[in-house]
Amino acid sequence: MRVPIIAGNWKMNKSVDESIELANAIIRGAYDVKNVDIVLCPPFTSLSDLSEMLADSDVSLGAQNCFWLNEGAYTGEIAPGMLKKAGCEYVILGHSERRAYFGETNETVNKRLIAALGEGLKPIVCVGEKLDEREANKTFDVVRDHVENGLKGVTKNDMENVTIAYEPVWAIGTGKNATPAQAQEVHAFIRELVGKIYDKAIADQLRIQYGGSVNPGNAESILKEKDVDGGLIGGASLKADSFLDIIKKAASAGK
Ligand code: PEP
Repeated sequence: MRVPIIAGNWKMNKSVDESIELANAIIRGAYDVKNVDIVLCPPFTSLSDLSEMLADSDVSLGAQNCFWLNEGAYTGEIAPGMLKKAGCEYVILGHSERRAYFGETNETVNKRLIAALGEGLKPIVCVGEKLDEREANKTFDVVRDHVENGLKGVTKNDMENVTIAYEPVWAIGTGKNATPAQAQEVHAFIRELVGKIYDKAIADQLRIQYGGSVNPGNAESILKEKDVDGGLIGGASLKADSFLDIIKKAASAGK
């Protein structure tokens, strides 16, 4: 029922020329892939070039963050309306690196989310616990806090455009992925929680991606889990071969 979504978070990697080369290889390699939504999230500087390139393909464009106002004296910020006009369909919000290094909180993530939805963007909202929180058995408390407070004020209608990415912080960029069972357990928890906040129909249609050291070797087993609807891919999205391999595994996950 839910089309899997595989998004590449390129983080602060790839110049414009390198972005064009990588996007070209992905478009070519994914031309015959059906039933997977593919999203590329390059740095801001590459958005407009990639927007032109992706226009005739089934691959979508996303940004890695946005501000909550649409213009003004906010040096270094990018408005959601600017992203929309630059051709973005998606925007990643609340990534753990933004929370850890740039002071993002549930409150600021929520403001960005409401603003992004207001501009017709499709946000990918990242949630997930740190290692010490998992070890202290606080995983569900942290994820509940991120989901409940991150989604505050988001309407049922808007939830159709929201994707949640469960990204255990200890698994991001570390080569230590969550096991399929660990991912499924938290994904099921998120779906149940969204069902309580909204209703079962909203929970059933919600796509929940897993992110954290997904690679061609572990993608299949994680993507096969019932409540895992794709992946947010960092390191393995920087090479066409590994990203395409994960996309193809999502296409054949048989859900
Ligand atoms: C990410 O940055 O969202 C991520 C999941 O990174 P990696 O795949 O490198 O762990």
